[in-house]
Amino acid sequence: MSENKVNIEESLIRENLLAHSDKISAAAIVAGRQPNDVQLMAVSKFHSIEKVRVALEEGHRLFGENRVQEAAQKYLVLKNEFQDLRLHLIGPLQTNKVRQAIILFDVIETIDRPRLAKAIFNEREKSGICPDLYIQVNTGEEPQKAGVLPENLDDLVNLCRDDLKLPLKGLMCIPPANDEPALHFALLATMARRHHLQFLSMGMSSDFESAIKLGATHVRIGTNIFGARES
Ligand SMILES: *Cc1c(COP(=O)(O)O)cnc(C)c1O
Repeated sequence: MSENKVNIEESLIRENLLAHSDKISAAAIVAGRQPNDVQLMAVSKFHSIEKVRVALEEGHRLFGENRVQEAAQKYLVLKNEFQDLRLHLIGPLQTNKVRQAIILFDVIETIDRPRLAKAIFNEREKSGICPDLYIQVNTGEEPQKAGVLPENLDDLVNLCRDDLKLPLKGLMCIPPANDEPALHFALLATMARRHHLQFLSMGMSSDFESAIKLGATHVRIGTNIFGARES
């Protein structure tokens, strides 16, 4: 990559971060909420460590990745340099990656089955470490999509919080591509209220303003910050 291209990319990432912070604050205020109640998560999957560094140097600290291996390659180094960097796992987690994941991530947003909750419990018994956890809900009940079905949510909440005493803090969803996302955001917010869960990870590039109106505490934005994915 030419030096010139890198410079253009750097300034674009800066502009995108600023523009989104402004839009998020505005949407929060319109919704009668505090701007600080909503956090911008910069989703850096498939983007280089250099791009993440630009965001860090701009003062941004909250990032999302959807694969454990890729996240480890970038963020083990970065977390040493930036102690207050916070990293969320937003992709499916296999039980054989749990040990690595609980060390690397500050929040795992994709708890979706009892077996995974038990694997995290077992690793916590050994290491004493456990990130905050959110349950991913398959609000659209799509067969191919990760997440617990709404009808099974109560049991999974009870297992995580009451039986295993895991630090369950929120819910996350990815609405179906062709549905009105607001319906799914409203459903997720209702579920979170019912279970007294504080955090709601919902809303992406095209629908984060609607998600904020309905209570999102974390909006996940990738392409609109870092540009088109590199691979
Ligand atoms: C990739 C991803 C995002 C961000 O998507 P973009 O299209 O890059 O903005 C948000 N949430 C999840 C779960 C993702 O995997």
